[in-house]
Amino acid sequence: MDTEYQYRKRRIALDRKNEFRFGEGKISGYASVALGLLSLLAVFAYRYPAYLTTIELRQVYDAEYLQEILKYGMYFSLFFGVLTFVFGRHRRLGVAGIGLTLLGFALGGYNIPVGPVEPVRLSLGVDWLILAFLGSVGVFMTLEKLFPKYRNQVILRQEWDLDLFYFCFNHLAISAILIYGNYHASHFDWALSPAVHDVVQSVPVWLQVVLIVLCADFVLYWEHRLYHEVRWLWPVHAVHHSVEQMDWLAGSRGHFFQVFSERALVMIPLYLLGADKTALDIYVAFAALQAILIHCNVRFSFGFLKYIFVTPQFHHWHHSSEKPAIDTNYSAHTVLFDRLFNTYHMPEKHWPADYGTTVRLPRTFLGQLLHPLVSVRKMIKR
Ligand SMILES: [Zn+2]
Ligand SMILES: [Zn+2]
Repeated sequence: MDTEYQYRKRRIALDRKNEFRFGEGKISGYASVALGLLSLLAVFAYRYPAYLTTIELRQVYDAEYLQEILKYGMYFSLFFGVLTFVFGRHRRLGVAGIGLTLLGFALGGYNIPVGPVEPVRLSLGVDWLILAFLGSVGVFMTLEKLFPKYRNQVILRQEWDLDLFYFCFNHLAISAILIYGNYHASHFDWALSPAVHDVVQSVPVWLQVVLIVLCADFVLYWEHRLYHEVRWLWPVHAVHHSVEQMDWLAGSRGHFFQVFSERALVMIPLYLLGADKTALDIYVAFAALQAILIHCNVRFSFGFLKYIFVTPQFHHWHHSSEKPAIDTNYSAHTVLFDRLFNTYHMPEKHWPADYGTTVRLPRTFLGQLLHPLVSVRKMIKR
């Protein structure tokens, strides 16, 4: 089938209106608003840490040290805001950025005392949202600008705001997702085996990581495949596939039902393996970074590694609406299970020309949230 298919090159027209160019004040404007908004969120998180930060994350970072970074964030927001007046354009963005930052200062700025936090049952991951956003912009957006697959694709591409909303939603819900995931894994207590734990913990950490990756990949492969091949599950997962331009933010789009179920399922093998915390931490970091990278607009081919790991080219094909790519490349970490179960599609040098679903989904968050219900209702009526 592959040999007959005529692969096309993806074409993206120049988008003068939405691109960032130096010297216009637009970069300063957006930077000022972004930093102002993040600073304000951070100030709230320092004021109400029990409700707005994540227990798991608090153990990892030094909140007082982060206040130093917050200080720079606030001053840079003001600086960029003023810069928009120097350029004389996009002043409205500058005013918004400065306003948000001043509000942050009024609410305590970077001097709010950090003390012990009394944990509450459910909190919003504002800290996780801020750190993940800064990290993603710093690493992945930079890579996309330095090594783009499609140079003409702009940061403010179609529906960037919708995906940013998904990004915020999924990061804020981190505590709920973790609680739900752990709760589900605890149903598998009956399958826990001290003998398995002993064996797993007796091997070196790197081997434990390999074991975790393979077990998680197996579970994620079948979960993903079911979402594609079971008719009434597809509308939930179709939300993730409704993105039509790929970049670091595109991977955030996903129905909350899928986000929760995926996390709950992957928690089961992790729980049953009983690996060391170091191995688990390495896996979680690897999985999180890989999940963003494979959606990125980057041209790396990764040499021989692409025959082992899921790479951007591999996952871009998974998002393609072209015929030979439909229902292929389900794996999340390695390409092993796609190879094994005959769902591997990787035409050497080619990349997709089109992304998205063959039947277009609603283009709003609410429309996509309700899409599974609407679809299943149609199926029942038929
Ligand atoms: Zn999929
Ligand atoms: Zn994806």
